[in-house]
Formats: sequence, structure tokens, C-alpha cells
Amino acid sequence: MGFFKRKKQEIIKHEWKIKKKCLDLILECAKSSYPKEFGGLLRVDTSDKYTIIELVVLPGTISGDSHAIFQLHMLPIDFSIVGTVHSHPSPVPRPSEADLHLFQKHGRVHIIAAYPFNENSWKAYDYNGEEIEMNIV
Ligand SMILES: [Zn+2]
Repeated sequence: MGFFKRKKQEIIKHEWKIKKKCLDLILECAKSSYPKEFGGLLRVDTSDKYTIIELVVLPGTISGDSHAIFQLHMLPIDFSIVGTVHSHPSPVPRPSEADLHLFQKHGRVHIIAAYPFNENSWKAYDYNGEEIEMNIV
């Protein structure tokens, strides 16, 4: 038991980062889709797998009326895609049941941008829906 316990503590917590330009674009897209939801995918730098550099918008998935608007069967096999981003027309950036289901199935990191879509109204989560720290670089 002790062995496993120690092992768990040794897991390195990676520091997630997002480029300011990418975050700004996410917030812009969320704003222009409002009051509809906006959804996209997050791409990392291939040399730094924990820095999100690009927002990928899938055709036909730009905005929708409800949660889980991602047509993930359309996902290209692309290992630089690490997770999802979507907006909440409400001021609550907390994941819904549908969001948690999506998080667990697809990707390692997920961003929710809530109304009014500024630098203080978004949060990042891991696949389990646990809030994670993400620094803007
Ligand atoms: Zn949601």
C-alpha cells in the first residue's frame, strides 16, 4: 500500500499554459456566438505539449443551442489536439453533466468560457472535471 501511495505523489503535475492570442480568439468567438454556444478544439505546440497555441474550429460546430455540440466523429487523427473548449451563455463556467461526459471521453484538458467572456470568466479542467491552473503566456 505504502508503495502505491508514494508512487502517486511522485506524479509530476504539468503546468498548462495558453497563448494570450489563442485565449483572446476563444473569447472573441464566444462573444460573437452569444447567446448561442461556441465550441472548438485546442491544439498544442508539438515541441511543448502543455502549451495551447491554437484554436481549431470544426466546420458546422461553431455554435449551437445546447451542450455537447461537438461532432467528434469528425475529429481528425491529430495528436496535437489535446482537448476542447466551449462557451456557456450563463456566467457559470462550471461543467454540466454532459460536459463531464465529454471531458472523460475526449482529451486531457478542457476550457469553459462563461459570459461575459473576459479573462476572469473562463476556467480549465482536466478529463475528470477537476479545475486546473492554466497560465496565460
Ligand atoms: Zn458546458
